[in-house]
Amino acid sequence: MADELRDLVGLTTRYLAQQGELGERELYLTEGNRPRRGVEHQVGAERRLTRLGGRVRSCTRCGLSRTRTQVVFGAGSAEAKLVFVGEAPGRDEDLAGAPFVGAAGRLLTKIIESIGFRRDMVYITNILKCRPPENRNPLPEEIACCCPHLDMQLDIISPLVICTLGTFASQTLLGTTLPISSLRGRVWDCRGTMLVPTYHPAALLRNPGWKRRVWEDVQLLRRVYDDLVAGRIPRGALKAPLTPE
Ligand code: SF4
Repeated sequence: MADELRDLVGLTTRYLAQQGELGERELYLTEGNRPRRGVEHQVGAERRLTRLGGRVRSCTRCGLSRTRTQVVFGAGSAEAKLVFVGEAPGRDEDLAGAPFVGAAGRLLTKIIESIGFRRDMVYITNILKCRPPENRNPLPEEIACCCPHLDMQLDIISPLVICTLGTFASQTLLGTTLPISSLRGRVWDCRGTMLVPTYHPAALLRNPGWKRRVWEDVQLLRRVYDDLVAGRIPRGALKAPLTPE
């Protein structure tokens, strides 16, 4: 019990230090896992997300700040119940300052619309907010530096479901080294939020044969979303990965 309490105090202290380092001066508490919804949540979330975006746009926590054109913070609704998390901005996104605007972005839009959403109904962001040179893979230290930004975005938006796109986003949010081929097709718990992994749209463009698997994943995503909204499954109830029949 004493060890558990010490761990909890240590975790809380680190979290508060991290929030302070990122410039956060206020704490927002929720009651258990109850979603914070309604006008109060919407106004508060928009304000906090805008404020966080302003701070992240001048971030120099890792070396990518020296090679980026601009920070790509994220786009969409601050009250989205569904958040998509990709890997990192590419060339088009680095120039536009917005996520998923190139060919992979257009495919992501089609995927989102195929399950009955519009882009402005969801929130889209990446693990890294700055483009790695030549679109190389993110380095572990870059992910470690940038993840607090994503943690805060998710904390503010408080979505019902997260859909990770590709290996890096899925492995990072689930804290695993399992390949995306093993992670997809199931529902996971990400600190009390349900998470459905699928392939990155850029990988799907290179491997059109994966289309059916992505279709199955997003159908699963839609079912989980509908079940959560209808209260058929309680939020944060997942104790083990869920494999659909
Ligand atoms: S990648 Fe993330 S941590 Fe690195 S400079 Fe950009 S915003 Fe900051």
